[in-house]
Amino acid sequence: MLSQNLGYPRVGSQRELKKACEQFWAGKITRDELQNVARQIRHRNWETQKNAGIDLIPSNDFSLYDHVLDSSLMVGAIPARFHSLIDGKSNKELELYFAMARGVQRDGLDIKAMEMTKWFDTNYHYIVPEFVKNQKFSRYSDKVALEFEDARQAGIITKPVLVGPVTYLLSGKEKEEGFHRIELLDNLLPVYIEVLKDLYARGAQWVQLDEPCLVLDLTDREKLALQSAYAQIREAIPGLKILVATYFGALEDNLETAVEMSIDALHIDITRGVESLAAILANPGFVSSSKKLSVGVVDGRNIWKNDYKKSLDYLREAIAVLGEKRVIVAPSSSLLHSPHDLDQEKNENVLTPQIKNWMAFAKQKLGEVSTLKKLAITNWTEDATFKVNQEAIESRRSSELIHKPLVKKRVEGIKMSDFERQARFAERQKLQLEKLKLPLFPSTTIGSFPQTDEVRQLRANLKKGNLSVDEYESRIKEEIVSSLRWQEELGIDVLVHGEFERNDMVEYFGESLSGFVFTQNGWVQSYGSRCVKPPVIYGDVERPEAMTVKWSAFAQANSAKLVKGMLTGPVTILQWSFVRDDQPRKDTTFQIGLAIRDEVIDLEKAGIKVIQIDEPAIREGLPLRKSAWADYLKWAVDAFRLSAAGVADQTQIHTHMCYSEFNDIIGSIAAMDADVITIETSRSQMELLDAFADFNYPNEIGPGVYDIHSPRVPTVEEISQLLEKALKVIPAMNLWVNPDCGLKTRKWPETEAALRNMISAAKLLREAVEA
Ligand code: GLN
Ligand code: ZN
Repeated sequence: MLSQNLGYPRVGSQRELKKACEQFWAGKITRDELQNVARQIRHRNWETQKNAGIDLIPSNDFSLYDHVLDSSLMVGAIPARFHSLIDGKSNKELELYFAMARGVQRDGLDIKAMEMTKWFDTNYHYIVPEFVKNQKFSRYSDKVALEFEDARQAGIITKPVLVGPVTYLLSGKEKEEGFHRIELLDNLLPVYIEVLKDLYARGAQWVQLDEPCLVLDLTDREKLALQSAYAQIREAIPGLKILVATYFGALEDNLETAVEMSIDALHIDITRGVESLAAILANPGFVSSSKKLSVGVVDGRNIWKNDYKKSLDYLREAIAVLGEKRVIVAPSSSLLHSPHDLDQEKNENVLTPQIKNWMAFAKQKLGEVSTLKKLAITNWTEDATFKVNQEAIESRRSSELIHKPLVKKRVEGIKMSDFERQARFAERQKLQLEKLKLPLFPSTTIGSFPQTDEVRQLRANLKKGNLSVDEYESRIKEEIVSSLRWQEELGIDVLVHGEFERNDMVEYFGESLSGFVFTQNGWVQSYGSRCVKPPVIYGDVERPEAMTVKWSAFAQANSAKLVKGMLTGPVTILQWSFVRDDQPRKDTTFQIGLAIRDEVIDLEKAGIKVIQIDEPAIREGLPLRKSAWADYLKWAVDAFRLSAAGVADQTQIHTHMCYSEFNDIIGSIAAMDADVITIETSRSQMELLDAFADFNYPNEIGPGVYDIHSPRVPTVEEISQLLEKALKVIPAMNLWVNPDCGLKTRKWPETEAALRNMISAAKLLREAVEA
């Protein structure tokens, strides 16, 4: 039996790579210095994996920015606008690489970066390959070979990892009409074969080709492409052992394709698709072959300790059918999606020893894989490591820290009526019109205002104990009051308090809810040099006390205008956290939904008449398979409704969404039944509104009229044009005026100028319509 790893975190245990990249971009360190940091991380990672006893250790899983971008460079898929940066000298490769990732704006050059999007259903963003019709490919970067050699010199024969050719093509985008990117396979494959031949010649025994597209809905043509690609690779390099890795889901209807591929080993993720295991073990074609099966038992995307008993049962099943020699033990996916090392969480006030004992980060997961390999071929029940593991699992299963009968009971007791506002929207709209007395085309912002260094310092000093709670609060109150005065002067209709007290829209709520813990160093790469440190939901979620009422009530007391209460919705809180694996996501979301519901009701009691519940992440929670969408959307929408429906009809509920395409879930957005939705649209020039119009979206909408991602100040004319466009498809009485998203990443001067223009445009439109 073998053990393997599919990929290891690459930013370094102290985020060294992040820091080095950012210094390199700022011109503070040289190319060689950056490459040195990278090399050290790679070597440390290989050492760690070797010491953990992993048999097949990956290389080329490292990347300076993104592994899909690495693939584009490997096959020479360099969009034409970057060709001026190709000069044949290898020392310029880095400049080209980062230009593709981040764009360039210098020396008269102005080249737009390539697009970035989420890697399957993870929070990792990759650089989207760009394809044109009949595109030719040719080997460009030698990174794969160089990393293999580098490890070999250190005495480790690695298993190079590549994004498989079909997944690579499917992850890209056609930049011209008239073809489908899968048609490029014949042009692409020779480059892959050349690279693989080279690796084989250098002494590689195994190569891992990632084809997670095998867990998606595939067309027949795509299935055929997979079979043909691997048949050709096999024919070209019969001696090289090919492992195809699938992850993030079950194979389902792609099972036949996967088992018929002409390869040496297939990896499956049984943490997110356990049914694939039984299906493969019952597949005569696979069983009678000599292929190995890599069983991904250790969750590569979460932070919980593996339950050895469960994993060993699965491994035993596989061994019983295939024999020990044909089974490989592995994490479910690359460990890229896990934080680095739990041992670095030393502050017991942040992470208590008891909760820490339930967790495993990437480094610990390697240990689990290796231990499972040892245990699988022994009588493990008496093994000491096994027993210690089971004690931890048992203590989590029964801990009072996690299980709160009252919370569970409350979720069980949710009634149909808890999801429903009292009156229908049309009726509510009338009541709200009377009560709120808002003008036509009311204006508002999405919540946050610029987070100046000063404001960040305030929070940091409070945390460090350099600032007393009283001092901190009075300083935040000053910020709130000055932002209120300023919004009043501008003439905004529904004000916000500015979110100065919040570090992050999920962390802020996680810190006030029970059932959440935080790590000090649990960073996970999100894109390029950007990392996130998601909160961990470990137990039943409860709201010990009101979370935002103090600030919102203070703000409302300091303005004669309406001030919006500002909350993060249950689906977004779930989506941006590490979640429990001991109960369905739906149950956790409903618990959060109830906590938010209580907060909404308390805000209403405190005199807040407009309450916004942000759900920017609702779309990214969609399952990979379309067949699972309806179920997810049902409970996600229900969780939102649960959080919103506890208030009187006069109270206006807003929601906000951004960075997503909403066209195919518009029905669900409508089903959320928020009185008002503010939504990002300006980057697509309001294209999105067509979906709302086609659907006949019934409630009020504020399509963002300017992009907050750029410091650029939009003119009054531009905003007016967008508003007029919106007015063609949205009834006047339903149209709001607002930016695309929160303004916390902007600076004050541009924010002020942009909002001033926005208000002017709203006034002009009002005058035009009322005249
Ligand atoms: N209310 C949040 C803010 O304005 C919303 C952020 C978001 O949508 N990502 O910052
Ligand atoms: Zn937003």
